[in-house]
Amino acid sequence: MTATILDGAAVAKAMRQRVAEGVRALAGQGIVPRLEVILVGDDPASRVYVSSKAKASLEVGVRAATRLLPAATGADELRALIETLNTDADVDGILLQLPLPPPLEGRSFLDLIEPAKDVDGFHPYNVGLLHQGRPAFAPCTPSGIISLLAASGVEITGRRAVVLGRSEIVGKPMAALLLARHATVTTCHSRSRDLPSICREADLLVAAVGKPAMVTREYVRPGAVVIDVGVNRVESAETVSRLYPGDADRRAQVERKGYTLVGDVDFVAVREVAGAITPVPGGVGPLTIAGLLENTVKAARRRRGLA
Ligand code: NDP
Repeated sequence: MTATILDGAAVAKAMRQRVAEGVRALAGQGIVPRLEVILVGDDPASRVYVSSKAKASLEVGVRAATRLLPAATGADELRALIETLNTDADVDGILLQLPLPPPLEGRSFLDLIEPAKDVDGFHPYNVGLLHQGRPAFAPCTPSGIISLLAASGVEITGRRAVVLGRSEIVGKPMAALLLARHATVTTCHSRSRDLPSICREADLLVAAVGKPAMVTREYVRPGAVVIDVGVNRVESAETVSRLYPGDADRRAQVERKGYTLVGDVDFVAVREVAGAITPVPGGVGPLTIAGLLENTVKAARRRRGLA
């Protein structure tokens, strides 16, 4: 069996088109959603993510502003900015790009964001609603994955789902969203024992660990749907050749750029047993930004009593 490739990029494009329609409908009422993205420091990966979010926002008609703060920004200054944005009636969504440079600690600042503007869905209030099965803003990566599964016709109700990883950003909200859709869910982490046998029970396996190609074919039941959330930077051409034999483009990318991005799943081997699989890149990544745009428009509507 060779798995169907789940095209996250195509689904994300359709999501962005729907968001753009929603923005046009709001424009007819004189409303233009506004997203504020805060980036502290100069982490190169964060800069790329932030500029992709700003670009995608502008493409769908969302006003996006990026607040670039130096790495030496103090806690009081960051807190004051969040409070200013919380009370600015013109701001619909606030996103704090993580990680923050030490000694700033992400959780304490996420807790300050006004829940009605928490488009990342990380505030404890929104996390609570999510776990009650009545989400306001679900975190963007797992909610994008739910959209991908729906668009791909993957049945969730009654299926066995295994989520590898228990982060606040991906693993836990993913498990909550699957549970709310009536899957039987197991969440695994670094202390779980005998991962391959737990994962082999899954009809739907979501890998969000951050370990290149950790999920080998022995983790996968024939016919299972495999969602690869991992984004891992690999700089060795030799490693890439082993993980992606025959993928000359990817090897050439390492030689040209000095790195390539790979998932948590051994794509080449798992593709032979899975029923469907997401690639990296082009799988989950584009869905995350589309989920953010959806949440921003949702925030704009809800804040005006339109949702
Ligand atoms: P975290 O590092 O926050 O969490 C990783 C999770 O994996 C933890 O729960 C950890 O367990 C678990 N884990 C680590 N090693 C193992 C192991 N050997 N066996 C079993 N479990 C393990 O990562 P994130 O959730 O933030 O991200 C996961 C991956 O997804 C990363 O590659 C990240 O880059 C990517 N990502 C991609 C996004 C996208 O848009 N495509 C968005 C967000 C993330 P424990 O809790 O015990 O430490």
